[in-house]
Parts: sequence; C-alpha cells; structure tokens
Amino acid sequence: MASVSVSELQETLKIKLDYNQLTNCMRCGFCLPACPTFKETGLEAESPRGRISLMKAAVDGLMEPGIRFEDQMNHCLGCRACEPACPADVKYGQLIEQAREAIEMHTVQHRPWVKIVRKLVFNQVFPHQNRMKLLGKGLRFYQKTGLQTVVRKTGAVGLFSKQMSSMERILPEASSNGIVEQLGTRIPAKGKKIATVGMFRGCLMDVLFTETNRKTVMLLAEAGFEVIIPPTQNCCGALHAHSGEMDQAKLQAKNNIRAFEEANVDYIVSNAGGCGAILVEYDHLLHDETEWQERATWFAKRVKDISTILVEKGRPLQFAEPVTDDKALRVTFQDSCHLKNVIKASNSPRTLLNGIANVEFKEMKDAGSCCGSAGIYNVTQPAMANQILDHKMVNANATHAEYIVTSNPGCLLQMKLGIDKHGDNKAVQAVHIVDFLYDRLVKQ
Ligand code: SF4
Ligand code: SF4
Repeated sequence: MASVSVSELQETLKIKLDYNQLTNCMRCGFCLPACPTFKETGLEAESPRGRISLMKAAVDGLMEPGIRFEDQMNHCLGCRACEPACPADVKYGQLIEQAREAIEMHTVQHRPWVKIVRKLVFNQVFPHQNRMKLLGKGLRFYQKTGLQTVVRKTGAVGLFSKQMSSMERILPEASSNGIVEQLGTRIPAKGKKIATVGMFRGCLMDVLFTETNRKTVMLLAEAGFEVIIPPTQNCCGALHAHSGEMDQAKLQAKNNIRAFEEANVDYIVSNAGGCGAILVEYDHLLHDETEWQERATWFAKRVKDISTILVEKGRPLQFAEPVTDDKALRVTFQDSCHLKNVIKASNSPRTLLNGIANVEFKEMKDAGSCCGSAGIYNVTQPAMANQILDHKMVNANATHAEYIVTSNPGCLLQMKLGIDKHGDNKAVQAVHIVDFLYDRLVKQ
C-alpha cells in the first residue's frame, strides 16, 4: 500500500522543487564520502546524489514517489555536509526542504493522532515563548517533585520507546525563568562599548539551557557589547522548515525580523548552530515574498555565531583552566553541522579553545561529521541516529578528552547520550562552548 497520495505528491514536487538545482547535479559523486547516511549504508539511494536522482526522476515522471521515496527523503539528516563537497554548488539543503514540504502536504504515513500532535507542537507550542515557558514549568515540576525518580524506577518512559527513555536520562534541568526575566532586555557593555548586539535566545535554549543563555550575555558584555534581548522574538523556525512546515517557518521568521528591527542592533548573536543556520538564511526562506526581501537581507547579514563575534569583533578575553596538577585539561570539539556547513564558522570555536591557558585541544577524527542529533532526527530515526552516534563515540573516546565541547544544544544532548552509552560518565563531560569559556574567564 502506498503511503502517500502518489499522483498528488508528484504534481506538488513539480511545483516545489527547483528544477535548475536538480539539473545542476552532474552526478560526479564528490558528495558521497561526505554523507553520513551513505557512509553508514553504502547505498546510492542514501546518498545526496541518489536522493537528487530520485527527486528528478519523480518530477520527470520516470517513477512514482511512493513510500520508499518518502523514506529516503526522511532518512537524510539535513546536515548539509554534501554542499561544501559539491563542485557544482548544488543547493541540496533547499532541495530536501522543498521535497519534505511536498511530502508533508500529501503523506498519509502519519497516523491521525500523530498529525494532530505535530500540528499542536509545531504551530501552537514552539512559536509561543510563553507556552514554552509553561512547558519548562511542567518539566521542572516533573524533575523536582520526585515524579522523575518514580518514572525512572518503574521504567514508564520505556513503555513508549527505548529512545525516549535514553533521552529522558540526559535531559537538563528545565527552567520557566528565561533570560529576559533574569536580566531584563538591555544589558550594558563592560567598559567602552564596541557595538550593540541582539541576542537570539532560542525557544528550547531558553527553557533547557537558560544558564548557557545567561553566560552568553555575560561573555558578550565582557567583550564590550551592549546586549539587547528583544522580548517579542520567537522560535527560529528551523524545526518547522526541516520538517516541511514552511508556512509556519516563514511566519516565525517575519516575527523575528520585526522584533530585531525594532531593537535596531548592529549584530544578531546566536549560540545554537541549528538556529543560526536558518537565521542566516531568512533572505532565502522569504525569497518569494518581495516585500520582505530587503528586511530579511538586513536581518540575515547581521547574524553571527557567539564564537565568531567574540573572535572577530569583541575585545580579547582571557581564559584559563585553574591548574590542579601538572597536566593540561584535554578537550575536543564536535562541530555543529549547520555551524560548519552553513554558517562556515568552524575555526572560531577552535581559536577560542586553543587560546585557553592550561587546556590542550585535541582534534577528533571526523569532528565535522554529523553526530546523529539533527534536530528531531534522533527521535524520528533512532536506528540510524544511534548507528552514527556509535561511530562518533569511537572517535571521541580515542581523543581521551575530558570534555567534549559543542556549540549547539542538540549536539550537546547527543554527546551526553553518547557518553551515557559508550563513554565514562565520571571521566568525560559534554559541555556547550559558552559554559566552558565562561567558567574559565579571567575577570579583568
Ligand atoms: S544533508 Fe547530510 S545526510 Fe542528507 S544527503 Fe547531504 S550529507 Fe547526506
Ligand atoms: S557533488 Fe554535487 S554535482 Fe556531484 S553528485 Fe553530489 S550533488 Fe551532484
């Protein structure tokens, strides 16, 4: 039985997919060694070239896009490691989003209750920060009242799925008290002001990683930036765009553009690679809406990752690991795919880590290859996500690092999961780069 309304999907693919991009692919295969799903399976259909061929064959009417087509599109991590490897500059990230948008419009693979939950979460929870905070409150209640202990002891989460049970174990402490509540909306620069930056606080970041957000603001202020946190900003829309919910992603982009325009900032800073990658592409996201083009471009060209702005624009800060014995603290870095392949900011985190006194930076083999987190991929495609993570942890463990540093919340949780499964919880920790730096900041 086909899982999609095949002919309708075929017609929508013809409308949505950029045919020029499909024909730009010259089938050279240079992207194959960069693709995690191809490396894991060795299957052409699980490679960028294979997926582009499938899309083109569907549009050309050479095959019917049925359940296998849908599965191959969903198996892609969206990591975009294939893009820098491509000599023809094929915009694969755009193609996969267009294909998923079409699939999302016609799939019958989701059960009715899944469709309802998806719509509820994507359209009624993520875009509204007050509802995200309520979620944080509920989660905190669960974590602090003993309910979590009962659930863990009885194995109740495991009844839903083994993956959910593993993820529940590594969930950080939630908060309903975000950075605006903690710090206000304007934080002055320390010393002479270099520029005014708008802080993109994220939706989940401000609920599960509030402390990282707070430390981001503090680092920016120390480096000479006045920080504005526009309170009306909302979720970046990345999860929506990667899941085929393009209309909702566009709505959120427009709201964020309005919020940061009002703040009139010189830069917009993100501390999450996944969010930063869509923020920097708002001009593309809204490319077919003429009246938003100029505004989206204004926004996109201001976006900087926290590491990059500290390295390139900020007053130099000093960081040091307190020496407890003769040995330097060994750290390694797991790239966020979107930070590396879309924002192209893989050098700045390494510059910062290499600059910390008494810290030895050890590069991990294939640090730039996806860890398997990829938004909600590790929930929707747990088998492939875990296979990728298993290989990642072999490389991470080979560095003998005491800290695996990351720059994206999803990667951070995935690394924690990896340590839980394959590492030594007492000897290795996963940490966001902002927390790692702030905790070693030498106050002037
Ligand atoms: S986005 Fe990542 S997983 Fe998808 S085809 Fe490209 S390299 Fe492979
Ligand atoms: S590297 Fe680019 S042109 Fe070559 S097969 Fe991959 S997507 Fe096509």
